[in-house]
Amino acid sequence: MKATANNFAARVLAWYDQHGRKDLPWQQQINPYRVWVSEIMLQQTQVTTVIPYFQRFMDTYPDVAALAAAPIDDVLHLWTGLGYYARARNLHRCAQQVVELHGGEFPDSVDALGELPGIGRSTAGAIASLSMSKRAAILDGNVKRVLARHFAIDGWPGKSDVLNNLWEQAEALTPAKRCNHYTQAMMDLGATLCSRSRPDCERCPLGDSCVARAQGNPQDYPGKKPAKEKPVKAVQMLMLRNPQGHWLLEQRPASGIWGGLWSFPELASDADPAGWLAGAAGGSIHVLEVWDSFRHTFSHYHLDITPVVADCAAVNGIGERPYCWYDVRQPPAVGLAAPVKGLLQKLQQLDPVR
Ligand code: SF4
Repeated sequence: MKATANNFAARVLAWYDQHGRKDLPWQQQINPYRVWVSEIMLQQTQVTTVIPYFQRFMDTYPDVAALAAAPIDDVLHLWTGLGYYARARNLHRCAQQVVELHGGEFPDSVDALGELPGIGRSTAGAIASLSMSKRAAILDGNVKRVLARHFAIDGWPGKSDVLNNLWEQAEALTPAKRCNHYTQAMMDLGATLCSRSRPDCERCPLGDSCVARAQGNPQDYPGKKPAKEKPVKAVQMLMLRNPQGHWLLEQRPASGIWGGLWSFPELASDADPAGWLAGAAGGSIHVLEVWDSFRHTFSHYHLDITPVVADCAAVNGIGERPYCWYDVRQPPAVGLAAPVKGLLQKLQQLDPVR
């Protein structure tokens, strides 16, 4: 079945009549103030967590004037435990603006609502449709998921073209009549049936026309935020062997990457290894091999390692901490950084001391 705006909304509304939530505290004595407070609390917070906070908030500040007149510290205190405290500060500032600029009444257009602190386009749409019975679209996280799946809209909604596409669908599908019920139904659908990890497509009123369901991949929508490119750091690891056939390791500082573990001395990618030993102990180095570079990835950057195998003559003063000469045939019990372990295994296969 190809979805049209009419039958899409009709199916959503029929589902709402049977299954939609109608007994939430902010669905009683509906007014813009109560809907606004609930919408802000529900951002990033589950319904069951919000309910007691909402009730305490309404008992303390029954209207926007009471909230505007309250000291911010009291508002923050009441918010304690809900998290994301910028929401509470914006709520307070917004209440003051409603009183000062709008005579204590919330403006009745989506554009004017959206100019108030902490009220974005979707929240403005929710206030207008739920509490003023206006035709206004919403696009919160739940609705994004339903629409992205139903129309198989590729891409991460944080990208403006993807977001615009979703808004276009949201606007086109929003019905002129019963917009308040439709808004509530779309939020409920996303929160219950079209859940992030286990959508219940069998029971979904949109199942017949849902493209992602037909493709068998609802979980692929909406697209994930692209992973940030990690920076790359390139180093040489100097694998220096003494006349006894032992390899020089250096203990890393206690804090930072590989803190306290033992590793080969690290040099800048363009440094001359011979120069390193001259600086460290006044000896000379004979470079035997330069191995292919490989990549070790940390959570926040890639480390491209070029192993350099070298021999050195007897050197004074370099066997002491933070250095040690490591015997691969009788390995001491020391903690090794993961790539160093692998390199030491490869070194075991190298020719004996020349
Ligand atoms: S059919 Fe499944 S994936 Fe599609 S909107 Fe319904 S619950 Fe979501």
